Amino acid sequence: MGVPEVSAAATALTDARGLLVKLQQSTLAEEHRSLVHRVMEVVSDAILRLFAVDSALFGLQEENTILQSKLDAAEDLERRIGQYEIHQTAAGATVYRYRYLPQYYACPRCTESSQQIHILQPMEDHRRGDYRCPGCSESYPFEQRDCVPLTATPTVQLGETVPE
Ligand SMILES: [Zn+2]
Repeated sequence: MGVPEVSAAATALTDARGLLVKLQQSTLAEEHRSLVHRVMEVVSDAILRLFAVDSALFGLQEENTILQSKLDAAEDLERRIGQYEIHQTAAGATVYRYRYLPQYYACPRCTESSQQIHILQPMEDHRRGDYRCPGCSESYPFEQRDCVPLTATPTVQLGETVPE
């Protein structure tokens, strides 16, 4: 028995059945003996139903424990995500930025898909300015790149002033 109230009710009914057994063993008129027998059947049925209720309650308690655990995890993630804000990098990538110090960035892809916060890490020298997620390996450009080759002469669009 998992729930104390159900256990107490089953004990009370078992006691009542015991009393009915004593009553049945005493000298009774046949019509009373038949009534006692019927009451015993009702009490026995009630006890069986209480066991079924207890079993169902036990299942619900287990389910509740699992759901509570999931709710706690979801609330914890929500609290942690609340410490970040959406940030667009100079290169146009969208990442999560930690609101406090020290400031760092997190992968929005992992946060959305696997509900895990992975802190972005700077990439190797040849991709300086980019950050990579250690969770999903997605890279995020942070610095705007000058696409004009160093050897080329920059072209000037109409209306632009030539930098000195
Ligand atoms: Zn990621």
